[in-house]
Amino acid sequence: MVTCQRVCLSKKQRSCGAPGGRRQKQHPTQGEAADIDAPIVFVGYGIDAPEYQWDDYKGIDVKGKVVLIIVNQPPSKDPKFFNGSTLTYYGRWMYKFEEAARKGAIGALIIHRTDLASYPWDVVRSSWSNEQVYLADDKDPKLQSAAWIQLEVARLLLSKAGLKLDEQIALAGTRDFKAVELPVRLKAHVVSKIRKFQSPNVVAMLPGSDKGTPKQAVFYTAHYDHLGIDPGMTGDNIYNGAVDNGTGCGILLELARVWAGTKPAPPRSILFAAVTAEEQGLLGSEYLGKHLDQLPVQPIIDLNYDALAPIGIPEEVEVSGAERTTFYPEVEKIAKDFKLAIKPDAHPEAGHYYRSDHFSLGRVGIPAFSISEGLKFKGHDLAWGEAQSKDYVEHHYHKPADAFVETWDFSGDAKLASFGYALGQAAATQSGEIKWLPGDEFEKAQKKLASKTMVNGLGELRQTAK
Ligand SMILES: [Zn+2]
Repeated sequence: MVTCQRVCLSKKQRSCGAPGGRRQKQHPTQGEAADIDAPIVFVGYGIDAPEYQWDDYKGIDVKGKVVLIIVNQPPSKDPKFFNGSTLTYYGRWMYKFEEAARKGAIGALIIHRTDLASYPWDVVRSSWSNEQVYLADDKDPKLQSAAWIQLEVARLLLSKAGLKLDEQIALAGTRDFKAVELPVRLKAHVVSKIRKFQSPNVVAMLPGSDKGTPKQAVFYTAHYDHLGIDPGMTGDNIYNGAVDNGTGCGILLELARVWAGTKPAPPRSILFAAVTAEEQGLLGSEYLGKHLDQLPVQPIIDLNYDALAPIGIPEEVEVSGAERTTFYPEVEKIAKDFKLAIKPDAHPEAGHYYRSDHFSLGRVGIPAFSISEGLKFKGHDLAWGEAQSKDYVEHHYHKPADAFVETWDFSGDAKLASFGYALGQAAATQSGEIKWLPGDEFEKAQKKLASKTMVNGLGELRQTAK
């Protein structure tokens, strides 16, 4: 059975920015225009995290106001407090905009500081000054204006209240912090041009052999979109996305072929999704995560593939996020069978976990992680792998030059496909449940999902197409 889901996307253009490009602005409400004239409230990190007894919005009402937020999360060396130096979702800009909207704010300004964002202002400018894509009919509260501002602009804003930005940022990392309304208003007239279009997620299912138990599935995902064509560019202007994510799609198709021939079929079903609009902010997978009731079965784990360099046989595998689940001992055992060393996340502070499609499923409670190679390849030293990775990021990543090369060696992609197949076998046949570990940031979401599943009887959901 193959089901085809429609994702409705609305594209909009930023057409009202501040002079000098110091402010990158958009408004996610999907209206043609927004007029804002509201006071600005500095809310520190803009985080409400009950599990850490942390609430930057305590004692202040931001309804109808604009919040000013520092990027990242309170500094910590304690793994029980915001995961120590590992970036949690609370530190990501997406969370800050979402939380501000949930609190009733109409606008949010995120203060950029290169070390805290882990990327320079140029990245903010290039990714926010073009067409922005949103899911249509998304029910979550939205801001009328969501923007970033440079550190110096924020310094000026705070100085109007006689406050020093550096002191306030330091204070924001402590429990003594209290949000402050500044004697400054944001006045803005934001105009957007809206272009509606559709882009499908393509979902396939191999039914499991066990008809008696609740319908559960192992989920494999890979995004099939890239950045399209740039009409303004001379010469080769096609973003082929051969590595990102032709490789993941190849693996997805091969997994589907092998699973279809697996006899007997495992007790649980196997679901496959080629998802769209990853490069626009994980939108295709976000749609899936928000519409799990449209799937005929309940995913119990998501294994995602995104950009696996076809440069030989890896001796390391990256499965960041797996260590946060009860499935990890199985992952370790299978990695050992495949002679793959598990490479820990080299930059936990950069929050890579939140940057590919598995996150869309993880955040709604499904244990989820990506499978990719590390940097050590057979016949080469680590420095070679690092150089390959650096070359890819500098010269190919998100450029038309991410194109197929005749001499590529796909044996490593095949190895990681087999590894993912073995993980899928283990997950599809094991008797226990797969869970986020106690205290994990997604544990709550998983509990919520489990209670919903019981109420709705997810196992009996409609099958969208045959
Ligand atoms: Zn990708």
